[in-house]
Amino acid sequence: MSLSASEMSGREQTVKLALKLDRLGLNRGTSGNCSVRTERGFFITPSGVSVEDLALDEIVEMDLYGETLSDGKPSSEWRFHKDIYAEKRNVNAIVHVHSSCATALSCFRKDIPAFHYMIAVAGGDSIKCAPYALFGTQLLSDNAVLALEKRKACLLSNHGMIATGPCAADALALAIEVESLCEQYLMALQVGEPILLTKNEMREVAQQFKGYGNWKNGETI
Ligand code: 13P
Ligand code: ZN
Repeated sequence: MSLSASEMSGREQTVKLALKLDRLGLNRGTSGNCSVRTERGFFITPSGVSVEDLALDEIVEMDLYGETLSDGKPSSEWRFHKDIYAEKRNVNAIVHVHSSCATALSCFRKDIPAFHYMIAVAGGDSIKCAPYALFGTQLLSDNAVLALEKRKACLLSNHGMIATGPCAADALALAIEVESLCEQYLMALQVGEPILLTKNEMREVAQQFKGYGNWKNGETI
């Protein structure tokens, strides 16, 4: 297969992202998927392939109408990748993981409240949990898009998490942060009901973040 330089780099970015998710333990085996935006749509990992076996030419390119532009079978979750790119012009990368703590919390089908100020990095004062829907369906995509309204990450009931970003590194950083928040929330719940930050306290957090690290630009927070 002969590839143009930009196609090569898009495919490489997608494989690298998938490898990182696996190495960090956020995904295992064939769980989860990821994608990066292209001029014509997006590159997405193939369905049912574990990352150690992932070859560049197995990455599938799709357009925003849901048509495949290259050979291969795209992730079963191509619908929510497509719908998120169509909905959010500033999103250029999406990761979907079945990381342990996010998945454990998703089984309660509840939003994660502002138990910690870092909740703000997902874009608001809670992380929404999308209602349950079968994997690979349009309903799951519709639920995810709603849960991501004014947010950069969400949980999927009894399933896992989606994190988005203006680039692959930011989407990955957000997925890592959300997984760590889920771990902390699960630990806090062992002791009782955590005391939550108020709306006003979370407004101050959003303000404070404006000058803080990689989360400071309006893209990441
Ligand atoms: P795919 O292998 O089809 O991407 O499915 C994995 C997954 O996480 C489905 O929700
Ligand atoms: Zn999944």
